[in-house]
Amino acid sequence: KKRNPNDPEFLQAVEEVFESLNVVAQVHPEQLDEDVLLRMVEPERQIIFRVPWVDDNGKTQVNRGFRVQFNSAIGPYKGGLRFHPSVNISIIKFLGFEQVFKNSLTTLPMGGGKGGSDFDPKGKSDGEVMRFCQSFMNELYRHIGPNTDVPAGDIGVGGREIGYLFGQYKRIRDEWSGVLTGKGLSYGGSLGRTEATGYGLCYFTEAMLKDKGTSFEGKKVVISGSGNVAIYACQKATELGATVLTMSDSNGFIYDPNGIDLDTVKEIKEVRRGRIKEYVDSHPLATYTPNERPWSIPCDIALPCATQNELDLEDAKKLVASNCFCVCEGANMPTTPDAIHYLMSNGVLYAPGKASNAGGVACSGLEMSQNAEHLSWTLEEVDKKLKGIMVSIFETCRDTAMEYGRPDEYVVGANIAGFLKVADAMKAQGCV
Ligand code: NDP
Repeated sequence: KKRNPNDPEFLQAVEEVFESLNVVAQVHPEQLDEDVLLRMVEPERQIIFRVPWVDDNGKTQVNRGFRVQFNSAIGPYKGGLRFHPSVNISIIKFLGFEQVFKNSLTTLPMGGGKGGSDFDPKGKSDGEVMRFCQSFMNELYRHIGPNTDVPAGDIGVGGREIGYLFGQYKRIRDEWSGVLTGKGLSYGGSLGRTEATGYGLCYFTEAMLKDKGTSFEGKKVVISGSGNVAIYACQKATELGATVLTMSDSNGFIYDPNGIDLDTVKEIKEVRRGRIKEYVDSHPLATYTPNERPWSIPCDIALPCATQNELDLEDAKKLVASNCFCVCEGANMPTTPDAIHYLMSNGVLYAPGKASNAGGVACSGLEMSQNAEHLSWTLEEVDKKLKGIMVSIFETCRDTAMEYGRPDEYVVGANIAGFLKVADAMKAQGCV
């Protein structure tokens, strides 16, 4: 706290992990090494840089760029880039810290990092986004590489942005390499990567439901967000027999009692780059509620897929009151700590994002493998591997929670399992 007084999101993420590590302290104190803990909460490297670019009116704009290389004990730094006006060092550090444990849980050899900028791609022309991405890479290129640090997308960074970033990296380095993941299929991307976080979230949820003798079949699902994660979570949940009732953006949410028509959402978000409220123009039975989040809509399962701290205590009370029995996080840290405690103490099954949304980075790991062997796997192969990884992450969370005397506390299982592997690697490598 003394060292990070102005980083509330980062402290929130660290406190959540430390709360779980208290369980280790009680059950297996010999597994906790203070020296490792001290090193683990300090990023290996933090880079902050100026990103100047020229807008369509010929005016110079300046944004701030970040890359936090948090931990490379088990592999090259790996984690997305976020372009959103709210981005600051606290948010990038919290995301980088979470990423260390998430990547560890995938069992793939990836360390943790995160980056981004306070640049807002909304309302910008393709030319402006390209010039921004090129300027961003003019600095970032010297810090990354296929065996050093492999960034990917996150909020505000999708296929278009990854393409511009990759093109500039290749131009500067004069080298084609798998330095970024989430690439287009024509230049080294993996089939299934676009869908991986949303699908992975549903595979994790499915495993969790199966373990309790139930499934998505016939369930009402409330989803927040309408970006990459939300869209493919909606698709897979629907395929698995659920009815998805809501989607949202930062301006409000839509509710369709007949179930969300995903073709319309994809057309609005992926083709027109429009706003979710446009959905009601072609669906007269659906409603749009501005300035609110969707948690007041009664449901069985809630999948927050937008951003951090988007589900607070009041929202948790609404969910419990409507008999929602399962909350699985697609976004990173979307549920506030008091909301998590409330949900769990009311018997709601709760899965933390670092476990349930790990499908995206797992598939990025598969993209790295394909790039390294200069091969492309089929969609079936990738999807099968993704499903296998998500089921195994669920089992790890469940079994670890059980082993440490906290059955069904998947957050405890995720934090402990993620931590132990990284801590072990750090100890083996000495004080570095
Ligand atoms: P996108 O940019 O594709 O979509 C983000 C969605 O969340 C949009 O609907 C956006 O609405 C909404 N949103 C963003 N900020 C806010 C806010 N402050 N309040 C309310 N709504 C907001 O991002 P992704 O779908 O890729 O990411 C969503 C979440 O999932 C993030 O937490 C991300 O870190 C996490 N995640 C993503 C992975 C991936 O592979 N993409 C992997 C693992 C986790 P609007 O358009 O109004 O901003």
